[in-house]
Amino acid sequence: MSASGARRVYFDHSATTRVLPEVAEAMAPFFKERYGNASSLHSLGRDARGAVEQARKSVAAIINADPREIVFTSGGTEADNTAVKGVAMYKGRTKGHIITSRVEHHAVLEPCSYLKQFGFEVTEVPVDSEGLVDPAEVDRAIRDDTVLVSIMMANNEIGTIQPCREIGRIARARGVLFHTDAVQAIGKMPVDVKADNIDLLTISGHKFHGPKGVGALYVRKGTAIDPLLHGGGQERGMRSSTENVPGIVGLGKAAEVARRDFDKVTSHIKRLRDRLILEVPKLVPECYLNGHQSKRLVNNANFRFDYIEGEALLLQLDLLGIEASTGSACSATSLEPSHVILALGLTHEQSHGTLRLTLGRENTEEDVDYFLTHIPGVVSKLREISPFSRDSPMSSCGGGSCNV
Ligand code: PLP
Repeated sequence: MSASGARRVYFDHSATTRVLPEVAEAMAPFFKERYGNASSLHSLGRDARGAVEQARKSVAAIINADPREIVFTSGGTEADNTAVKGVAMYKGRTKGHIITSRVEHHAVLEPCSYLKQFGFEVTEVPVDSEGLVDPAEVDRAIRDDTVLVSIMMANNEIGTIQPCREIGRIARARGVLFHTDAVQAIGKMPVDVKADNIDLLTISGHKFHGPKGVGALYVRKGTAIDPLLHGGGQERGMRSSTENVPGIVGLGKAAEVARRDFDKVTSHIKRLRDRLILEVPKLVPECYLNGHQSKRLVNNANFRFDYIEGEALLLQLDLLGIEASTGSACSATSLEPSHVILALGLTHEQSHGTLRLTLGRENTEEDVDYFLTHIPGVVSKLREISPFSRDSPMSSCGGGSCNV
C-alpha cells in the first residue's frame, strides 16, 4: 500500500531496494549495544572487527573473491571513483589512456572526464542498438599507454549484460587492468571475478536489499592502485575512515541472503518480467523494448512508447500507485534524454518516451496484472494530448519531430 492507502506497485528496484527485515535485524545491535570501533583493541572493538570480517567473507563469496581483496566503501560511486582515479593516478601518474563505454553510469563517466584535465585521454567505445559493447572494439582501442578498461557488467537503465568474460580476457592478454561496475548485477546474475579476469569490481549495498551508503570495491591481489581517501589507514590503507560497522554488517547479510536465495528469487523475478516484456507491446501499439532481448538482467524491462513523455507517464502511473523510472529528465527549460538511450541510436524524440520497470523479490503476479490493466489507458490518454502524437489535434509536425 502507498502512503495514501492506494495499491502500491514498486517497479523501481534498480533505483533502490527495501532493506530486508533480516538485514535490518542483523544491523540493529551495531547501532545499540555493539557500538565498538573496529580498530579498538578492547573487547567491544574486537567484537566490531569480528563482525566486519564476517561481512567481508560474505561479500567475497558472492563474487568468488578472497576476503582480503574486498575494500568497504561508502557505496558504488566511491568504489567506481576509487577504481578509475586510483588506477589512473597510481604513484602520481598524470598521463595515460582509459577505455570505457558510452553507456556507463555517471559514477564512471564523470571520474574519467575529471581526469582529462590532468592529461589523461579517454575512449568511450560505442554500443550497438541493443546496448552491447563489441569486445573487438575494446581490443582495437587498447594503446601502449592504456592503463584501464572500465566496462559495466550490466546496464542500470536497459539491463543489457556486457560480454565481460571476453573483455576481461582481452584486457588481461594485453596487460591492461579491467574494472567492471557490477552494481546492478549482484543478486541477479552469477558473478565470478576469477572466471571473468576482473581486476576491480564495484558493489553497492542498496541495490540488493542492503542499506544505502555502503558498498565495496574488489581489488585483485597485486593490483596497482592508490587509495582515494588518506588518513588512519583502515581497509589495509585502501580506504581510510572509521568503518561503518552497521552498514558493513548489513551489506554482508544482504550478500549472504542474495546468495542463499539466488535461484528462487531470480526465477521468480524473471517470470514476472517476461510477462511484462511479452504483454505490454501487445497491449499498447507503438511500444518497443529497449536493450537486448536475452542478454539482459532478469529484473529489467525498459520500454519506449512513441509520442509521449516519460515523465508524464511516470506521474500518471504514480497517481495509480505504480512507481517506476524514465530515462528522460525533462524540466520546463530543457529536455535531456538519457545518454544510454541515445547511445542505442534512437532520436531525441524517440528517447523521450522511455519507461524502466525494474522488479524485485517482493513483486507479485498481482502487481503485473495491475500494471497491465492500467498501462494501455494511461498511454492512450497521454497520446491524445501529446504534441508529438500523429493523432493529436495539437500536433503541428506530423510524426513527432517537434522540439519542445
Ligand atoms: N553504478 C551503477 C550502475 C548504478 O546503477 C549506481 C546507482 O544508481 C551506481 C553506480 C552508484 O551507486 P551508489 O548509489 O551506491 O553510489
